[in-house]
Amino acid sequence: MKTSKPNISDLADKVRRLLNYDANDPIDFSDLCSRNPNLTIVERPFSDKTSGMCIKNEPGSGIIAINSSMPLGRQHFTLAHELYHLYFTETPFIVCPDDESSSQNDEEKKANEFAMFFLMPNYGFYGYFEDMCGGALTIDTILKMEHYYQVSRRALLSKLCFLKLLDPVYKEQFLVNIVRTASEKGYPKNLYQSPCFAQSTTYGKYVALVNDLFSRGVISKQKRDELLLDAYRDDIVFPQPEGK
Ligand SMILES: [Zn+2]
Repeated sequence: MKTSKPNISDLADKVRRLLNYDANDPIDFSDLCSRNPNLTIVERPFSDKTSGMCIKNEPGSGIIAINSSMPLGRQHFTLAHELYHLYFTETPFIVCPDDESSSQNDEEKKANEFAMFFLMPNYGFYGYFEDMCGGALTIDTILKMEHYYQVSRRALLSKLCFLKLLDPVYKEQFLVNIVRTASEKGYPKNLYQSPCFAQSTTYGKYVALVNDLFSRGVISKQKRDELLLDAYRDDIVFPQPEGK
């Protein structure tokens, strides 16, 4: 019997379920590593031509690296994009260009499409647009939605065009003065603006594994510290006193 291949929307739903995210709500990435204990996330600045990387051992298991010098909205898109590679791309090592809209190859296009469905599932997106925004497309609606879903302006507009809620010919008018308009309407800028200081850190499996090996006497304290410093975790090696 011939079975049809799942479409990208189905794959995004599948990963949402695997990670125990609600089917339609916005993604909160803050505890992603506890939802997948086989995942390590590295945040560090890369060149502006690279948005992220994925190194995988097997589906769902490996390291995702994010360019932390990019705006928060872009970083969220990258994280969702890299999840596609982690779960579905066969290549074990992928470096991804900074490009949300068009791409160099089919797998990059699929990862971008996956990110759009993963971050903004159709049903939930329609519901929020109708119920919370009254189904009217204005700059206020756009700001409200991109902060709800924590995505870039470009990603939000692409989703609106994909669902035919925005005619692509009107897209450009929403791509000017983004930061100024958001600020004047009372929204924070970090969704759109690169951080003044791009942090470097690692969390997830790598950090837990290093500490576990040390606590079981498999590696020395010196080796533990060395491995943690390699992962930018000087905060663990040189801990500050904890406040009450
Ligand atoms: Zn990619």
